[in-house]
Formats: sequence, structure tokens, C-alpha cells
Amino acid sequence: MGPRPASTGATQSRAGSYRGGHMTTFSDLALGEELLRALAELGYEEPTPIQAETIPPLLAGTDLLGQAATGTGKTAAFALPLLQRIPLGGPRPGALVLVPTRELATQVSEAIHKYGRHLGARVLPVYGGAPIVRQMKSLERGVDVVVATPGRAIDHLSRRTLDLRDLQVVVLDEADEMLDMGFAEDIETILAQTPASRQTVLFSATMPPRIRHIVDEHLRDPTTISVGLGQATPGETPRIRQTAYVVNRAHKAAALGRILDVEQPGQALVFCRTRADVDQLTETLNGRGYRAEALHGGLSQEQRTRVLNRLRAETADLLIATDVAARGLDIESLTHVVNFDVPSAPESYVHRIGRVGRAGREGTAITLAQPREHRMLKTIERLTRQPIAIATVPTVADLRARRLELTRAALHESLIEDDLEPFRVVLDTLSDEFDPLNIALAAIKLAHEATSVGGEETDEAEIPQMTLHPAGKEAPGRRPPRRTGSGDSARIFIGLGRSAQVRPQDLVGAITGESTLSGRQIGAIEIADRFSLVEVPLDRIDEVIRALRKTKLKGRKATVRREKSDRPDR
Ligand code: AMP
Repeated sequence: MGPRPASTGATQSRAGSYRGGHMTTFSDLALGEELLRALAELGYEEPTPIQAETIPPLLAGTDLLGQAATGTGKTAAFALPLLQRIPLGGPRPGALVLVPTRELATQVSEAIHKYGRHLGARVLPVYGGAPIVRQMKSLERGVDVVVATPGRAIDHLSRRTLDLRDLQVVVLDEADEMLDMGFAEDIETILAQTPASRQTVLFSATMPPRIRHIVDEHLRDPTTISVGLGQATPGETPRIRQTAYVVNRAHKAAALGRILDVEQPGQALVFCRTRADVDQLTETLNGRGYRAEALHGGLSQEQRTRVLNRLRAETADLLIATDVAARGLDIESLTHVVNFDVPSAPESYVHRIGRVGRAGREGTAITLAQPREHRMLKTIERLTRQPIAIATVPTVADLRARRLELTRAALHESLIEDDLEPFRVVLDTLSDEFDPLNIALAAIKLAHEATSVGGEETDEAEIPQMTLHPAGKEAPGRRPPRRTGSGDSARIFIGLGRSAQVRPQDLVGAITGESTLSGRQIGAIEIADRFSLVEVPLDRIDEVIRALRKTKLKGRKATVRREKSDRPDR
């Protein structure tokens, strides 16, 4: 056969490792020491599939077209090569990342800052609604990476406070969203002011013709990469009850505690993205009375064996693990798989949940998704051809009811077992003084308190009920929302919430009924126990507030005002 097959084989295995993503490590990707150190500190154990595929061509300076939704790890996929490639510390930015929303500008800029901390990269988010003067000052002092919404970037360009002459990399992140928001022209204007020699990277969850057009115009021989569909066989997906809860990252641990309390899994495997998440969540759940064990790449072989033995001996109920650490794990008794984050590739979702529902047994898959991750959930549904039900996080009242139900069931069992005689003497003595019904109640209370460990106090904190964002964006044939002033939005506070039975559709109904806003102009809706927050275009907020003040919600007048604190979502 000659020497050829051997060398072909080597090339193939290299390519294969990128495609699957899983065998590649970050150091295989030729990233610098400072970046590797930052990733290790963040607890990233291995590149996600999109990272494994994207980083090598980007480091080589190629243009790139990536089809990937939020949650795939695409921020690091473009940020790491960019940080490695641009010269840092110059007077003008070397990279510009354009994103559709203010929220994303903050998040992406925070992420790039974290990845680039040992390089000393200066990263600045630039978006409307924030004081422009402060942004101007920062730009003047010198910034390496600007993360901007197109509207505000144009502002700075026309004031000449943003100079793109030295730009080496432009990233268009969530390009389809930017087009939907009416930024097409702004993007053209911005690109026209960048050097022709720049590297252009475009990420989009969908590839409509308008995106194709931008690609044809502005990208040179791009490498095309998509978070692969079709690698897992849908027929192989076991029948599993699949539920997703939409919660902000900050509330995930508390939400999971409640969900587990209600679900009462036999044994569950909880997947987290990073070591840090694994450790933190293990601690939280132990505090809640679960016997949770952490499993990640930082454990020695002995520690790992010990953890797995505890699980097999059923002295542990929950295993909190990263994908890497859980590889090859096969636990018979698992009833639940929990995705603490939406996994970074649909295949890995299928792979994860395949750990339950074996041999015809029933299994449950629970996923905690952030409002922005709606597209990833849709992709997973398409791949598995099975619906994922969106459920609401149990409320404090739900938990109380569930705990009482458990106590009732335990008492019922005890009554049936009928080995109660030894205790009659206590009843007889107390009956001299108390009504037997009251004695029973006191006994129930004691039993209840003895079994409901932890939780109660911590559960007083509110977990806002979120909707997938943006509401209804997935529906086909929709006209894109009209471009609002600078494309920015703000939130309205409404002093009625879940305890007044307010639902998202009530808020949408009231707003569209009383103002000239249409449903698709309404952004994320958050409903807490005693209040709600609704995101609307900034330039329409006063109109909506006036309209809501005139009307009633669930038959009641509510306080309506601008949200006071401009708190970040994370
Ligand atoms: P993105 O799709 O860029 O929004 O990333 C989704 C989440 O995945 C973020 O919270 C990242 O911090 C996290 N993440 C990205 N890459 C990795 C990785 N290789 N390992 C673990 N977590 C990651």
C-alpha cells in the first residue's frame, strides 16, 4: 500500500478530533500561555465543539462564517484568537465586536475582559443609554477591543471619538438579530470605515439571504462552521420526559434546589460547564440537605473512585459533574439528568440525557436555560424530535405544599406498616391533658420539621420567572421589529406580579391594547412574586408607562414606573 495511508490516517485523526471537538484540548489549539492560564482559572476544561473548529482558522487569519446560537461558547471562539492576534496597548482599537443589544455588549465585553486579563487587554463596551462622555474618555485613553451596538458605534464614528484605522479584526455577533433590529445600514457604514485588510468574522444563528448578502460582500473566502446537526441519530434518543426552566444565571442554583425538592429524584447527574460551577453548586445543594458529590478534572483518580463508590452505594444522591469528568460514566440507578446550563452542542445534550431512560426505564431531563438561549433549545428540539416543555420554577407556596404532601405520604406509610404499638404509651399519657387530634397535629409538625431539611429560610428569596427572549422571535414570516431610536431598550416596573396572578400574556395584552406598541416590540418579561418588569424600546417607554397607568391589570391599579436600578442580568 505504500506510505500514503499512514499519513492520510494521521491527517484524518487530526481533522476528526476537531470535528468531534471532544478530544481537543485548549493547548492543542496553539493558544498563548496567558490565555491558557485565564481559561484554567475560569474552569474551562476543554474547548466546546465550535471553539475547537473555529480557533485554528481564526488564529491563521482566515475570515469566518459561523452558524451558532448563544450557549455554544461562541464568544470565546472568536475572542481568544482575536486577543492573541491583535497588538495590545496601542492608541487605537485593534478589534471591534458588533452586537445587537446593550445586554450582549456588556456580557461579551466582560467575557473578553476575563479571557484577556493576563494579557492586560483593555476592553470597552459601548452602547446607547449609557453616558457617552464616559465612553469618549475611555476611548481617548486607549482601548484594544471595542464591543459596541451599531447605533452607538456610529455615534462615536461621527464624533470622531472612535477611529477604526488600525482595526485588524471585526466580529459581527448575532448578525441576524442585528439585521432584524434594522442595523443593516449602520453595519455597512461601519465596515466602510475599516481597513480592507481586516479579518472579518460573522456569527449568526440563522442564515437568511440577507446574511448571505453581507457574507458575499464583506467576507473573503470564509471558512464556514456550524454547530453540527445530524451527528446524533434522532432514533437513538430514548423516551425521556424533558423539561426546561427559564431562569437568570444568578438564580439558577436556588431554582435547581426548589426543582429537586419537588421532583425528588432517586439519583441525579447534574452537568455544569466549569469546575467552579461544579464546586459552587455542590456546596449549595449540600447546604440544602442533599448528599451531593462533585466530579471534575481537578480530582485525583482516588478521589474520583471514592465519589463514584459513594454514588453506587447510594450514600450520595446527586453527582455534580463537568462533561469531561462524566465521560464514560454509567450509573444504573440514575433517574434524572440535569443540565445546569444548556449544553454547548445539541449532540452533547442527546449524549447527556441518554444516561437516563435506559432499558425502558423512565427518565427525566431537566434543563436550566437563560432567557437568551431560546434558539439552542429549539435546535435541540429539532434534533431530538421531541418537545421540551417549558415549566415554571416552583414558588415558595409550591414547595410548602410539596413538603406537606411528602410528610402526609410518610405518615400514610407508617400507618399502613402498623408497628405503632410501642408508641401508644406516649399517646395515652398525653391524652389525659390534650385532645388526640391536637396530639396528632403536634406529631405531624415534628415529623414534618424533621424531614424538611434546609431550604425553608433560603427559599424566601424571590426567583423571578423569566420568559424566553425575545418573545416569539422564532415564528416564521414575521416582519422584523421596527428599528427603535438607537435600538436600545429599557425596563418598566409594574407593581403587580405572580401573587396577583399576573402572567406574561396579561402584560403583553395590556401594553398592546393600551399603547401603539405591537407584541413583537416587547422584549423580555420578568414576573416576580410582587412585581413585574417589561422591556420595551427606550424611545417608547414614556408612552407605554402613560398607557399602563391609565389601565388596570387583573382588575387592579398598579404602580408603573421606569425600573430604577439598571442592574445587570448576571
Ligand atoms: P456563549 O455561547 O459564548 O454565550 O457561552 C456560553 C457559556 O459557556 C458562557 O457562560 C461561557 O462562560 C461558557 N463557556 C464557553 N466556553 C466554555 C468552555 N470551553 N468550557 C466551559 N464553559 C465554557
